[in-house]
Amino acid sequence: LIVLGIETSCDETAASIVKNGTEIISNVVASQIESHKRFGGVVPELASRHHVEQMTIVIEEALKQANVSIKEVDAIAVTEGPGLVGALLVGVNAAKALAFSHQIPLVPVHHIAGHIYANRLMTELTFPLLSLVVSGGHTELVYMEKHGSFKVIGETLDDAAGEAYDKVARTLQLPYPGGPHIDRLAHEGKPTIDLPRAWLEEGSYDFSFSGLKSAVINTLHNAEQRGEIVSPEDLAASFQASVVEVLTEKTIRAAKEYNVRQVLLAGGVAANKGLRNSLTSTFNNEPDIELVIPPLFLCTDNAAMIAAAGSILFEMGKRGTMEMNAHPCLDIEI
Ligand code: ATP
Ligand code: MG
Ligand code: FE
Repeated sequence: LIVLGIETSCDETAASIVKNGTEIISNVVASQIESHKRFGGVVPELASRHHVEQMTIVIEEALKQANVSIKEVDAIAVTEGPGLVGALLVGVNAAKALAFSHQIPLVPVHHIAGHIYANRLMTELTFPLLSLVVSGGHTELVYMEKHGSFKVIGETLDDAAGEAYDKVARTLQLPYPGGPHIDRLAHEGKPTIDLPRAWLEEGSYDFSFSGLKSAVINTLHNAEQRGEIVSPEDLAASFQASVVEVLTEKTIRAAKEYNVRQVLLAGGVAANKGLRNSLTSTFNNEPDIELVIPPLFLCTDNAAMIAAAGSILFEMGKRGTMEMNAHPCLDIEI
C-alpha cells in the first residue's frame, strides 16, 4: 500500500510517501518559520500564499525522492482539519486535483490523529493506548481502544502547552517559535522560582496553562519594578518544571486508571527534552506500560504522520469525495 500524505494545516507545506502505513519512503517539509518570525507568530494570509507557492514543488519532490510515480500511489491522505482554513484549503484542493485527474482514492485525515499515528512509523501500536498530545494548538489525553477510535479524556481549558511556551518565550524576548529556546534555557537554569501547578479539580484530566503564563509575566514585572533581575534560565527552568510535572502526573494517572498497554507522546511539544526525560523516567517504573516517544522530526508537523494515519483509515474504508472541504475546527471524536 503506497500512500501520498499531504499536510498544510499551519505553517509547514509537507508531502510524504509511506509504504504499508509504517515505512517512510520520503518525507518533505517546507517550513515557513523564517517568513513568520518577524511577526512573532503565524500570519494566516502569508501562510496560505506560501502553501500555494510550495505545494506542487513539495509533492513532486516527495514522489521524486521516493522514486514513485503518481500512477503507483494507492491513496492520497490529506489533512482536512483542524487548522487555518486558508492553509488547509491549499492541501485539500491539491489532493482533490490529483485524486480526480489520476483516479486515486482520497482519505481525509484529522491533523491530531496524524500526530498520534506518527508513533506507528516507529513501532506497532498496542491497544488500549493513551496518547498525550501536546502541540501548538492542542493539549489533550486521547484514549484509543482500537485503530481509528479516539476518545478525549482530558484537554486544556485555555492555552495549549505549545502556545504557553511560545507566549512565555515572547515575554523573554526569544524568537518565534519559542518552545525550543525555552527548552534550551531551562537546561541551563535551576527551577528555583515558585510557580503554580494547575491540577484543577480532584481526578480531572483537564489542563490549564494560562495561570502559569500569567505567573511568569508577573514574576518578571514585579522584579522589574523592584529593580531586580530574574535569571531567564531559572525562570525557563521553573516554567518548564511546572508544565512537565503536571503533564507527567496526569498521564501516568490516566494510563493506570484506563489500564493501557502503551502510552504515546505526540505533537510539537513532544520534542521537549524535559518532558521526554520526565516521561521516560516515570514509565521506567511501569514494566506493563510501554512508552513510545517519536524522534524529533516526527514531532512537529510533517506529512508522513498524515500518510500513516491515512493508511489505517484507508484500510478501514474511509474515503473523501470531490465535495470534501477544509474543517478549521474539526473534532477528533467523530
Ligand atoms: P496543532 O498540531 O495543535 O494544530 P501546530 O501544528 O501549530 O498545532 P506543532 O507543529 O505540532 O503545532 O507544534 C509546534 C509547537 O511545538 C510550537 O508551539 C513550538 O514552540 C512547540 N515546540 C517545538 N519544540 C519544542 C520544545 N523543544 N519544547 C517545547 N515546545 C516545543
Ligand atoms: Mg508549525
Ligand atoms: Fe501540528
